Amino acid sequence: MVASLYGVQEECKAIWVYMEQDGGVLENVSLELLHKGREMADQMGWQLTGLLLGSEVAQLAEVAFASGADAVWLANHPLLDGFTIDAYAPVVFQAVMGGKPSVFLLPATPNSRDLAGRLAVRLRTGLNADCTNLHMNPEGELMVSEVSGFGGGVLALIEMRNHRPQMATIRPGVFSPGEAKSDKKGKLIRIPVDLTEDMIQTRIVKRVIEKGVDLTRVPVLIAGGRGVEGDFKMLQELAELLGGEIGATRPPVDEGYIERERQIGQTGMVCSPKVAICCGISGAFHFVVGIEKAGTVIGINSDPEAPLFDYADYCIVGDVHQIIPALIAAIREAREVSYA
Ligand SMILES: Cc1cc2nc3c(=O)[nH]c(=O)nc-3n(C[C@H](O)[C@H](O)[C@H](O)COP(=O)(O)OP(=O)(O)OC[C@H]3O[C@@H](n4cnc5c(N)ncnc54)[C@H](O)[C@@H]3O)c2cc1C
Repeated sequence: MVASLYGVQEECKAIWVYMEQDGGVLENVSLELLHKGREMADQMGWQLTGLLLGSEVAQLAEVAFASGADAVWLANHPLLDGFTIDAYAPVVFQAVMGGKPSVFLLPATPNSRDLAGRLAVRLRTGLNADCTNLHMNPEGELMVSEVSGFGGGVLALIEMRNHRPQMATIRPGVFSPGEAKSDKKGKLIRIPVDLTEDMIQTRIVKRVIEKGVDLTRVPVLIAGGRGVEGDFKMLQELAELLGGEIGATRPPVDEGYIERERQIGQTGMVCSPKVAICCGISGAFHFVVGIEKAGTVIGINSDPEAPLFDYADYCIVGDVHQIIPALIAAIREAREVSYA
């Protein structure tokens, strides 16, 4: 097996978190990883460090300190204004080789996934991708990453014994962002950046920002499955009444009834709403992992044996095309009565 560029003997007892930002705004998942990183660092008596790249983004270090970081390594350069893999990969590589952290966590977002894969190859270490949980094994001073495989039938617990850093990407919404402590301070370490225009092969010609929705943060989720038969208008009406958003299982997404960004589950979003109403959904493992963190799950299914009912707190057996319109009418009526 090829040795990593630094090993266990040289590692620094620290957990590093890559702080993904876009236009000076930190991605929520960075806060989630800092919070989880703090918990693991406390358990081990280690340092927690944020790694921040960008142009004029130093103010985000304060956010990292408030979220538990002891230190932030900052790479500031005009060519880091906007993510390009050509600029970000060498700078992060250089920083990691400078700090030699034992653990390095990145978000499983499109940009950070790209970054993590390239870094793992350069560092000649492993990468536990798309983890659903992490914890430390204090005896071996090892991180244990949980990764589901074989279509969700197997949960693998992976330790990286010999290679460093122990790298993992974690999907948004898996951990809580925790409470910020505004009085917490930390150390800002500026790192030199040696980048020139000719190193950047990628040119961002145009940025198109779609309206988008962040399902990881919605308080009420109305999810529709194949049983809804594409009638997401009905679900949208209910979602608007309850101040929520609609989501879906994979089949309606594949069939083009709803945008892919609204897919819930293993290959979609992991959500933690207070209430999830699951309509015409069988309850396959691949879907359920996306709502496991919901406060209350209500299932509506015409099949009393639907596996979803094993997870749901409230089970409604019946036709979703009758139940949802009736529910909408009942909510409207109740509101009209209370306003009268
Ligand atoms: C590697 C891999 C990754 C995957 N990732 C995901 C993922 O991220 N998210 C995801 O959702 N799936 C994912 N899948 C697919 C997943 O395995 C299931 O096939 C999918 O979740 C099923 O969706 P469904 O419940 O909408 O459809 P079905 O399983 O077809 O269930 C439809 C349900 O609707 C009910 N129903 C039908 N008519 C009505 C009605 N009129 N009223 C009430 N109920 C009705 C039926 O009784 C049934 O229970 C993945 C699969 C693989 C192999």
